[in-house]
Amino acid sequence: MDTYRRWPVRFTHGRGSTLIDSDGKSYLDLSAGIAVVSTGHCHPAVTRAVGEQAARLVHVSNLYANGPATELAAKLAELTGGMQSFLCNSGAEAVECALKLARRHGGSRRTIVAADGGFHGRTMGALSVTGQPAKRAPFEPLVGDVVHVPFGDPDALARALGPGVAAVLLEPIQGEAGVIVPPDGYLSRARELCDGAGALLVLDEIQTGVGRTGHWFAFQHDGVTPDVVCLAKGLASGLPIGACLARPEIATSFRRGDHGSTFGGGPVPAAAALAVLDVVDREGLVERARDAGDRLRAGLGRAFGGAVVRGRGLLIGVVLPQPRARAAAALALQRGVIVNDVAPDVLRVTPPLVITDAEIDAALSVLEEVWDEIGTT
Ligand SMILES: *Cc1c(COP(=O)(O)O)cnc(C)c1O
Repeated sequence: MDTYRRWPVRFTHGRGSTLIDSDGKSYLDLSAGIAVVSTGHCHPAVTRAVGEQAARLVHVSNLYANGPATELAAKLAELTGGMQSFLCNSGAEAVECALKLARRHGGSRRTIVAADGGFHGRTMGALSVTGQPAKRAPFEPLVGDVVHVPFGDPDALARALGPGVAAVLLEPIQGEAGVIVPPDGYLSRARELCDGAGALLVLDEIQTGVGRTGHWFAFQHDGVTPDVVCLAKGLASGLPIGACLARPEIATSFRRGDHGSTFGGGPVPAAAALAVLDVVDREGLVERARDAGDRLRAGLGRAFGGAVVRGRGLLIGVVLPQPRARAAAALALQRGVIVNDVAPDVLRVTPPLVITDAEIDAALSVLEEVWDEIGTT
């Protein structure tokens, strides 16, 4: 079905931050398949883990345990101070799980408060909490009892909270909205407000998680402890996976039979995620995201003639002075650099966490040329 606007290019190979197309032309990938390919294209350790697991065991269903899923849940618990996991296949599914868990835990509390501009996925439940009216309108009526408040405004959040609210669902940094960082203290204030109102704080870390912002999870930057966390994109560096994590007191609100997934927690994506978490750890990619992000943000500001550059670590938005993001992304692609035009005036830059300083500098010099040509016309 024709649901995507695609660029006229077909990629055939990838390694690290480099992609090769069907004509043999090489590109520096500053998008990483929309913040997914965290350890770079075809990282040898991830490729090996996938190949070995695919040769050993691919599927048994969740009627039986499997080693990689069990190990992955243990590893995620270790990274989050003991959260329990439900493993699924995508970001939207992780959000669906969080919504069901919030209502199951909340009893008579049914309302979900989410943020304007927020993005949580395309399935009906995830779309219901997504705060982008244009994506929602054609599919209404959606799931009810959802309230949207302006992002970054603690007073608006306070006004929306009440005895009927099961959960507040937020992205720590809004990705699809154009990389919008809330004011300092917003998440910790949200935490306090949720505690005061007896609502869960659910953080959608599908785009921000697994090192991208220079912390394992973006909530660590703000020093808050969420009740529920959704992960997906970077977790298995390209294999389909999602995870809904919750503190044990909350996770145990789900009874047997309350939720399920045929493919969720399959051995191959779980083995990929384990390899990714190991590579992120062993190669110091969380710290690397911070350093590379500093270099890239500074360089992007220069390359785009003093444009506002926002974000954290390697989740970056370049706010152009003119709505020329599509044209800039098109010319950059032609010149061999991949960036994402997330909004008419915003380029989103989310390279693999393994990107080197030399690759950053090479990409920046191309982008500077691109903006010299595009920015003034
Ligand atoms: C991409 C994304 C989703 C949806 O993930 P899918 O895997 O496409 O379903 C949800 N929330 C956020 C913050 C995302 O960036």
